[in-house]
Amino acid sequence: MTADKNKIIVAIDGYSSSGKSTMAKKLAADLGYRYIDSGAMYRAVTLFAMEHGMISESGSVDETALTDALRNIYIDFAVTPEGQHTMLNGVDVEHLIRSLEVSNHVSPVAAIHSVRQALTAQQQRFGAEKGIVMDGRDIGTTVFPNAEMKVFVTASPEKRARRRFIELQQNGTPSSYEDVLANVIERDHIDETRKESPLRKADDAVILDNSDMSLQQQEKWLMDLYNRITSEINGSNC
Ligand code: C5P
Repeated sequence: MTADKNKIIVAIDGYSSSGKSTMAKKLAADLGYRYIDSGAMYRAVTLFAMEHGMISESGSVDETALTDALRNIYIDFAVTPEGQHTMLNGVDVEHLIRSLEVSNHVSPVAAIHSVRQALTAQQQRFGAEKGIVMDGRDIGTTVFPNAEMKVFVTASPEKRARRRFIELQQNGTPSSYEDVLANVIERDHIDETRKESPLRKADDAVILDNSDMSLQQQEKWLMDLYNRITSEINGSNC
């Protein structure tokens, strides 16, 4: 199948709990694009590793066993009336992958070369026909370096931890604000300093600091940027 020439790839990267997913999902829905939460894919692999005894008490990951198991891990997304659900080997794990336990183990798993390789390849397949909004840490740098629209989202660690804390409470997964803040800071550190595809702003990404922005303001900011970019593309195609 060929890509629709009017559709583009939107890459939204940024720090954990910066609200990327919420805004990416909304933009995709407004545009009729597919939304892919790449973080959910890393979380699903982490859950698989936890369920199969590949993560020790101290948090170290059995890389050999996990690399071996990758060929048996199938991740997909099911669209339901309540939203998009992450499926791990056909099982809906949307709720489980959002736990603080998975959050605590995901960054070391996401630093493993074979894991990144497998998930990057799958993410590129999802975007082969364009018309996609994908959020993550390396979408504009590694997965889709040629994405037409790249956004880098940031906000203070305290604001992000507060958002995550409220989200966990609403999901019925109790945790303390201090634990959530520690996890946000720890994940930022691992994501920014890992050797492969570290979290960084692509040179051609536009920064969105949403520390003091409402959801509506963010949505408008994104849609304005999308309209500007697509009209530039259409203008240069005339
Ligand atoms: O976006 P979310 O916080 O759910 O992502 C969970 C974790 O997955 C991140 O902390 C990061 O370690 C990893 N991740 C990644 N590359 C991506 C998306 C997520 O390394 N593209």
